[in-house]
Amino acid sequence: MSAPTTPVQLGAGPAVLAFDVGGTDTKATLVDATGALLDTVRVPTPLSLDGTGDAVLAQIEALANRFRTAHPTVDIQAAGLIVPGLVDDENGIGVFSENIGWENVPFRDLLSERLGVPVFFTHDVRAAGAAEYALGGAGQYSDVLVVVIGTGIAGAVFINGVPYSAHGYAGEIGHSVVDPGGVECACGGRGCLEAIGSAGAISRLYRAASGDGDPADNAIGAREVLERAQAGDFRAQKIWTEATDAIGQVLAQCVALLAPEAIVLGGGLAQAGPALFDPVEKRMNSFLTFHRRPVLLPATVGENAGVVGAALGARRLVPNVASPVAL
Ligand SMILES: [Zn+2]
Repeated sequence: MSAPTTPVQLGAGPAVLAFDVGGTDTKATLVDATGALLDTVRVPTPLSLDGTGDAVLAQIEALANRFRTAHPTVDIQAAGLIVPGLVDDENGIGVFSENIGWENVPFRDLLSERLGVPVFFTHDVRAAGAAEYALGGAGQYSDVLVVVIGTGIAGAVFINGVPYSAHGYAGEIGHSVVDPGGVECACGGRGCLEAIGSAGAISRLYRAASGDGDPADNAIGAREVLERAQAGDFRAQKIWTEATDAIGQVLAQCVALLAPEAIVLGGGLAQAGPALFDPVEKRMNSFLTFHRRPVLLPATVGENAGVVGAALGARRLVPNVASPVAL
């Protein structure tokens, strides 16, 4: 597995700040008027134990001040903020994050007050999906599903070129059930796709299957599970096959409902390339009959897709700026 290295080209436009608040780290970047990611930093995300999100907002304000001090000639005109969990894009509210610990925080308005510029606010996977749609290989299609497979699994839906979020509830394909009554999922359900087909699940299921065997197995990730499968490890082969079967099955259900012209697969697991795409496509197609078959494309924007999506959304808030796509 190797990470895609295509440089991101946002193109000319207003200079903006972009913040990607993750469960572990927060990534912040300054995009200049040429579209370059001029300065990028990564810091640990503070826990928000009081549920207000204040710790996160204070950290973002400090990062913004740092960028302004370090680049005094850059005219920052807007900011983009993306967060995990349940996000109400329309109202600018972080509804819930179990990992970081907030509930019903009006992030968009609070951050705009702190920074003194307009703020674009959305869910991390929808932002990454928008970046892939705007700058990756699916731009020629109007009906597109972008699926990010990493620690978890989530999707971003574009219908007629417009993102569809349903007040934050759309796109949660990681929690569609493929094995009723099966393995426990972090959401409280059982047999969800995310509990079987995510990179996190592949690693976890392999370690569980190892029992009290080789202690080195405790550190094994999805990449190593694939390597062992390819080397003939039957246990690894079974877990990899069950994962790709589950992903293919859920994608077929998405095809039945949405009939996307293209499905983009991104996130850490997509870096497995044909070892993921080939069995997933075969499995998906095995369920399709009269349906329109989508093309499966790899994500190309790479690890910066989140901040790039946040920056694209922020730029759209600046008056008289044409966006290459709806965000
Ligand atoms: Zn679940």
